[in-house]
Amino acid sequence: MQGKIIKGIAGFYYVYAEDGNTYECRAKGIFRKDKFKPLVGDNVDITVLDEKELEGSVTEIHKRKNSLIRPAVANVDQALVIFALSRPTPNLPLLDRFLIMMKQKEIPTIICFNKSDMVSEEEREHFRQIYRDCGSKLLFISAKKGEGTDAVRDCLRGHMTTVAGPSGVGKSTLINHLVPEAEMETGKISEKADRGKHTTRHSELFRLEKDSYILDTPGFTALEPEAMEKEELRFCFPEFDPYEGSCKFQGCIHDREPGCAVKEAVEDGKISKERYESYISFFRELKERERRRYS
Ligand code: GDP
Ligand code: ZN
Repeated sequence: MQGKIIKGIAGFYYVYAEDGNTYECRAKGIFRKDKFKPLVGDNVDITVLDEKELEGSVTEIHKRKNSLIRPAVANVDQALVIFALSRPTPNLPLLDRFLIMMKQKEIPTIICFNKSDMVSEEEREHFRQIYRDCGSKLLFISAKKGEGTDAVRDCLRGHMTTVAGPSGVGKSTLINHLVPEAEMETGKISEKADRGKHTTRHSELFRLEKDSYILDTPGFTALEPEAMEKEELRFCFPEFDPYEGSCKFQGCIHDREPGCAVKEAVEDGKISKERYESYISFFRELKERERRRYS
């Protein structure tokens, strides 16, 4: 039977199977020997060992589309990153860091600004302008009031989405709104796994409807984009794309070179100043890291 791993705790994998049941499975010894571990999000084959107790064994892991390390998850279609427009005010460098990471993995991102009810239309417009051409879909919602949440649901349909964001931005409020049974489900599964075992905070997949899953991603503050050449960073900023090749110097990194089409576009207000400054700041960071590596 086929299924999807929705959660892993202490060597147990919870597999949501074709028959609509969730089976508690061990992975066959063969995986442990190969040091190849099943991940949440993996599509797998299972053998049912006990139909009544819903116990089984993972026998095969299907080929992965992709995988992330933190959170450890496979087959992510897209990321939904949530920030609040107020309380806490959005940490834009952290958001940009996240966008770079997802761009490196080629995972499309949806930016969801929550707590829209707490700010004026001018403030919403301010953030809309900064991110208008960043390559991600933008949503403005109020999870508490249930405003804009249908648009979120539409974005999630048919995909496996990892949901991330700093604490306090309204992540739980949104997830509970989208999956009212989320809390209930968590309790049910943990109860079984808790028997004599320790549980830690882990990632868990919630099924919204057929083929729609969301992964609640704990831990967000220590984002570290993968190592990359500073010269590659500019390709993580989609707003630069239309100007690539138009600068005076070939391979222009849009910093201090004369005749830079990107800098001109920033001056003309065609590229958001905030995003450009963010680029420069990350560029300096990579440069500094490189300098330390070679000195
Ligand atoms: P999490 O840490 O990201 O899971 O955030 P929570 O969902 O626990 O929300 C943090 C606080 O923000 C709570 O007091 C929520 O009631 C509040 N909150 C969440 N969404 C909204 C919203 O859309 N508008 C307002 N005004 N408050 C919200
Ligand atoms: Zn340039």
